[in-house]
Amino acid sequence: MKIVLEHLTKRFPNKNRKIKEEVIAVDDFTHEIPDGKLIGLLGPSGCGKSTVLNLISGLEKPTEGKIYFGDDDVTDLPPENRGVGLVFQNYALYPHLTVKENIRFPLENLRGKDKLTKDQMDSKVREVAKLVQIENLLDRKPGEMSGGQQQRVAIARALVKKPRVLLLDEPLSNLDARLRLQTREELKRIQLETGITTIFVTHDQEEAMSICDSLVVMEKGHIMQHGAPQDVYDQPEDLFVAKFLGTPQINVFKGEIRDDALFIGKDRIMELNEENLGESRKVYVAVRPEGFVAVTDDGQGQVKNENCLHCDFRKMEVMGRDTSIICTHEAFEGTVVRAIIPSETRPRFIGGEVSFYIKPSKVHVFDAVTEDVIRGITDGE
Ligand code: ADP
Ligand code: MG
Repeated sequence: MKIVLEHLTKRFPNKNRKIKEEVIAVDDFTHEIPDGKLIGLLGPSGCGKSTVLNLISGLEKPTEGKIYFGDDDVTDLPPENRGVGLVFQNYALYPHLTVKENIRFPLENLRGKDKLTKDQMDSKVREVAKLVQIENLLDRKPGEMSGGQQQRVAIARALVKKPRVLLLDEPLSNLDARLRLQTREELKRIQLETGITTIFVTHDQEEAMSICDSLVVMEKGHIMQHGAPQDVYDQPEDLFVAKFLGTPQINVFKGEIRDDALFIGKDRIMELNEENLGESRKVYVAVRPEGFVAVTDDGQGQVKNENCLHCDFRKMEVMGRDTSIICTHEAFEGTVVRAIIPSETRPRFIGGEVSFYIKPSKVHVFDAVTEDVIRGITDGE
């Protein structure tokens, strides 16, 4: 079932009572979530992700705006009538109940025509337990299971009433790295198998990119960009999105467009033809770590091509498949530039100055004032 969010705004009174000004947690949020898809809601802590989820579930009421499930306006519907399944970071299982009783719990409150017999409940519990692969744990208590297993129970409990929408709020954050990886694959499988429209909230861009059909990137209650994960990564519309997606982070330099070329500091790194030139202006030049090609290889520091970025070498980190070349540059916005190259292309000698060609598709240029992307400068846009 598709979900339509129209001009959703949520304002809270400030938690600090001395401050009169309200907190705008969600600000004019408009988006359509297609039926049967897994959508990632991504953004830094405090950007309003959980509030969006709580508005969809009905736990919070919007200050303004409308929510539709399919064609139904659910804005004023209480949470229990919306047909949503919720999973939170902290599992929220009842410690004194067994797994089976925990999963069965939402079914026991059904009344009237929806009321189920004990056998019907048991059969539903077994069905979801099988789906999340915990059939053999049904008699355990939550305290006797790993975090990953507990989260599967929480997912089973959210699914047992066959919700129309599944909402997951940072469901993997309490798991250790290995379990996180495993459980996120598991989430993807469960979503594909059930076909339930699912919104997955996370602040972890890698997690979101790896399993979601599409991403909504938020900051300060706004949608910054949405689209297929690879598209958002390859074509960030502003500097915030460019910096938020990708590990290690994109390298941001102060630059300039002038004299028919793109400059990083004093280094001319790319010729610009007339069509994509634009007027002279100050920009940010952001280069993905995989966008560098090391060209200093002769031990002399000699570089023939002029269009190179000249950096000061700091150190090399060999990581098997890839090698990181860590260096500095006077126009760099952070502390160190990180270039990642395939280990087989690693220069034999490196030191002093290290120069790089920059792959055009891995460069994004942003206006220095608005931080909006300037299109048409590189092949990537
Ligand atoms: P996220 O889930 O992205 O970390 P939240 O949706 O929890 O962000 O919060 C967004 C903003 O709204 C934050 O500034 C937070 O402090 C504020 N906020 C959330 N809930 C409340 C509340 N009940 N009362 C006051 N402020 C709140
Ligand atoms: Mg949150």
